Amino acid sequence: MTYLGWIIPPPSDRVTKTSDEFARERRGMVRRLIEQGFLRSRELIEAMGKVPREEFIPPEYRDYAYREIPLPLPGDGRNQTISCPHSYPLFYEALGLARGDRFLEIGTGSGYGAALAREIVGDEGRVVTVEVNRETYSFAVENLRRLGYDDVVTVLGDGSKGYPPEAPYDRICITASCPEIPPPLIDQLRAPGRLIGPVGPPYRPQSLLLVEKKADLKVEVRVVDEVLYVPLVGEYGWDGPLGGLSAAEPP
Ligand code: SAH
Repeated sequence: MTYLGWIIPPPSDRVTKTSDEFARERRGMVRRLIEQGFLRSRELIEAMGKVPREEFIPPEYRDYAYREIPLPLPGDGRNQTISCPHSYPLFYEALGLARGDRFLEIGTGSGYGAALAREIVGDEGRVVTVEVNRETYSFAVENLRRLGYDDVVTVLGDGSKGYPPEAPYDRICITASCPEIPPPLIDQLRAPGRLIGPVGPPYRPQSLLLVEKKADLKVEVRVVDEVLYVPLVGEYGWDGPLGGLSAAEPP
């Protein structure tokens, strides 16, 4: 199957790899991401070496956990994936996510990104993550609880509006592509603070934007890379007034 242009191996009827094999593959992933220049900070190297990515993937795709591809998750069958491994350092290194940060993630997906963030921000920080799809949300909550990430605040709802009760946030990460950076997210960002997320049409190459809100409230934006993400839905997503698409369907 191809998915957003990625070639996804067929689902298998059982998991064949042992936890030792997964651990070896995890070490290999970390080494590769360091060599490729994506992974640099000690905190993220430790987090990616620790969090078992395979535990955030449905059994039929688990054997492929450490391949450089996104994999399908429970949801509407098309718009939910765990992102490919390199996208986590791509986002988090640019954000400069650090111990003690209050972090907001839009698009919980599998819960893997939230687990990595919790490892980095530590007990002094806070991770809040919002997912709009009920089935995906349940999957993520189950994964996070099973692995002991009990204090990650999980929210079922439209994250394009952010999550005011826990604002302001030092760092915000949007893991779905937006028509533009949702204004409520800029409002809920602390000054100084940073936000990262893809902007661009569904199922087409998008610009990964890094937004820096300065202490004087000035906002600077720069393009970090070109990426391919599932569409953001909701009020400030593709099916809202900004996006103008009736549903986030391929053009
Ligand atoms: N960060 C995830 C990957 C997320 S994929 C991980 O580490 O696994 C993008 C997710 O964004 C999908 O699950 C999709 O349902 C969700 N999404 C799309 N629009 C949203 C919105 N308005 N609010 C919250 N989640 C949204």
